[in-house]
Amino acid sequence: MELAHRTREVKPSVTLAISAKAKAMEAEGIDICSFSAGEPDFDTPEHIKAAAAAALAAGKTKYGAASGEPALREAIAHKLHQDNQLSYQAANILVTNGGKHSLFNLMMALLNPGDEVLIPAPFWLSYPEMVRLADGVPKIVPTGSTYKLTPAQLEQSITPRTKLLVLNSPSNPSGIVYSAAELAALAEVIVHHDILVVSDEIYEKIVYGDVRHVSIGSLNPEIAARTIVSSGFAKAYSMTGWRVGYLAAPIEIIKAASTIQGHSTSNVCTFAQYGALAALQGSQDCVAEMLAAFSLRRNFVLDSLSRIPGLDCATPDGAFYVFVNIRKTGLSSLEFCQRFLESQQVAVIPGLPFGADDHVRLSYATDMQTLAKGLDRLNAFVGELWG
Ligand code: GLU
Repeated sequence: MELAHRTREVKPSVTLAISAKAKAMEAEGIDICSFSAGEPDFDTPEHIKAAAAAALAAGKTKYGAASGEPALREAIAHKLHQDNQLSYQAANILVTNGGKHSLFNLMMALLNPGDEVLIPAPFWLSYPEMVRLADGVPKIVPTGSTYKLTPAQLEQSITPRTKLLVLNSPSNPSGIVYSAAELAALAEVIVHHDILVVSDEIYEKIVYGDVRHVSIGSLNPEIAARTIVSSGFAKAYSMTGWRVGYLAAPIEIIKAASTIQGHSTSNVCTFAQYGALAALQGSQDCVAEMLAAFSLRRNFVLDSLSRIPGLDCATPDGAFYVFVNIRKTGLSSLEFCQRFLESQQVAVIPGLPFGADDHVRLSYATDMQTLAKGLDRLNAFVGELWG
């Protein structure tokens, strides 16, 4: 059987595959520590679940508008105005099946064969695959030890075929967060070359200490006109399985992406959208509580890692990952992950599909006990490597 050529171009998602493997090993009774998927371990807050349950009881069980429930689109536009200083109307919002789907719809709506999309490395592993699925050409831009794209690197990477830059701040996997000044400098290049930028802000609520999340589109009207925002409810409200995300963009993009969604998935689960509405309109204390827990875990992980010889990692300013440099072990990231899983039953994600084969990613969106056990095992594993 001959499958579509595009299936040869794309690789399965390693984050999903390793998380599934870890879950399967756990179900077999193996004492495994999983630091794999970026999935908060908290249950979805009660008031959000209650709102979805009430919507279900009230008969919100039918098809809705493909682009989303009007009340939710309105609430998202309001949130973007209030939290991010972005001026979008409800018509600029598309409610999607998670943040991932908003990016996929965008690529499908925007790219023609050969259009180039700039992706600073390290990057979330699905970006290049989505670009390929949409017949675009992912252009990976190495960033060096800061993990941050500089205006000069951006400038040098732009060609006449460049259509879009993907920015992710806070970043998965590196945890870097761009400052307003750094974004302003990138915005200048973007505007000068008249390309578009999609700002993936799914981790915006998870920033530590004095670090502040800034939306690049809020900086000035010129960059606002060239910005698309992708986000969702999964990370801030621990709603990973709900699959509710959104795209905010100029109207022609939303119309095209909405048509694509209308022929592919139709609307996002109607009653789930009412849970998302409650997430935006209800108390934000749950977000602060989860952030406080992530912050303690981050400190614990960084402290433990600093005691393990031969591993280096930058302090993440946001998200819930540490991106550990394993260069000194002499192992590739795949070898490291495979051997660590086999010998110590700890699942971490190789850096290779994130564009950094000398790194592995640990998610600390898990409980302290698992973190303590897993880090002890990491210490033992690295000790074995040094012989
Ligand atoms: N974005 C999360 C991660 O990187 C969830 C898994 C996925 O969709 O890749 O772990």
